[in-house]
Amino acid sequence: MRILIAEDDEVLADGLSRSMRQSGYAVDRVGTGLEADSILRGEQPYDLIILDLGLPQMDGFAVLRNLRERNQHAPVIILTARDSVGDRVKGLDLGADDYLVKPFSLEELEARVRALLRRGQCGTNPMLCCGSLSFDSVGRRASINGQPLELTSREVSLLEALMLRAGKVVSKEQLLERLYSYSEEASNNAIEVYIHRLRKKTAPAGVSIRTIRGLGYIIDNQP
Ligand code: CA
Repeated sequence: MRILIAEDDEVLADGLSRSMRQSGYAVDRVGTGLEADSILRGEQPYDLIILDLGLPQMDGFAVLRNLRERNQHAPVIILTARDSVGDRVKGLDLGADDYLVKPFSLEELEARVRALLRRGQCGTNPMLCCGSLSFDSVGRRASINGQPLELTSREVSLLEALMLRAGKVVSKEQLLERLYSYSEEASNNAIEVYIHRLRKKTAPAGVSIRTIRGLGYIIDNQP
């Protein structure tokens, strides 16, 4: 999952990106409306956008309006310091999916992020299953026959990406996008290393993570 944070308050943006990264999301950060607008016009798709309304150069309303005019449907949570009903209504009318009034707790923001991502990705069923391996996309925890599986946050992201498309190929580029933001340098074999670890950990569930040479990876039930 890849999240864009557009927030000009550096302290808040630092806190937000740290907590999102700890939860295993890849995070990109911008501090002005113009930067947000331009990165959203780029090649990189985002699974979710956290958008401050009071941004320099171009406000969050304009960024949001442009985004929806381009028919980009990624969920947007707007942040506003202004506790005014008018701003919230305007934001929601322009196509925001949710809003938070500052100050808010990171816990609450994370819960709303999970809820929106769930809505977009797996409909109403938060459990992804493959063999006896289950992945709870709400709590972002994996288990085998109900026994919790110990995974690092990057392993969680990788497994989630594979299980969302169980039985289908997920390209190495898609996995890299989910795991790393622009500011992080991924080593060439990072994905192979994580896949290797995930294979070991998920082997008891009777699933296999296969390498499809030149295409990517696929998780499915072992024949
Ligand atoms: Ca602001």
